[in-house]
Amino acid sequence: MSGIFKKITTGVTQTGSKVKNIVEVNRFRVRIVQKKRDVEKEYMEIGKLVFESYQNNNATVTIEGSILDYCQKISEMQGEVNLLEAKINDAKRLKECSCGEVVSKKTKFCPICGYKFKDAV
Ligand SMILES: [Zn+2]
Repeated sequence: MSGIFKKITTGVTQTGSKVKNIVEVNRFRVRIVQKKRDVEKEYMEIGKLVFESYQNNNATVTIEGSILDYCQKISEMQGEVNLLEAKINDAKRLKECSCGEVVSKKTKFCPICGYKFKDAV
């Protein structure tokens, strides 16, 4: 029995400080959706540049620099999306007790109030 509780406590100290609760997960999700929308806009800007270049019979050389700027911007945004997704995965491994304590998903009993989680695996 004491072994189980030791394991639970370790889980809490390792992951508890990273993400608070479900609300935070939803906030990350919203930010990902917004970021992906921004990425789509950048894609469209590139398309516009390419088409305008075609229309004006310009050599691609003149737009290469601008396209590179957009590509770098998109790469940065995708990096941010990956970071947010990693945070969500961290958060998903946690759950919150009614007493406010954040514990690992695998936790069966709250180490603070002793509540028995119904979804305990
Ligand atoms: Zn509790």
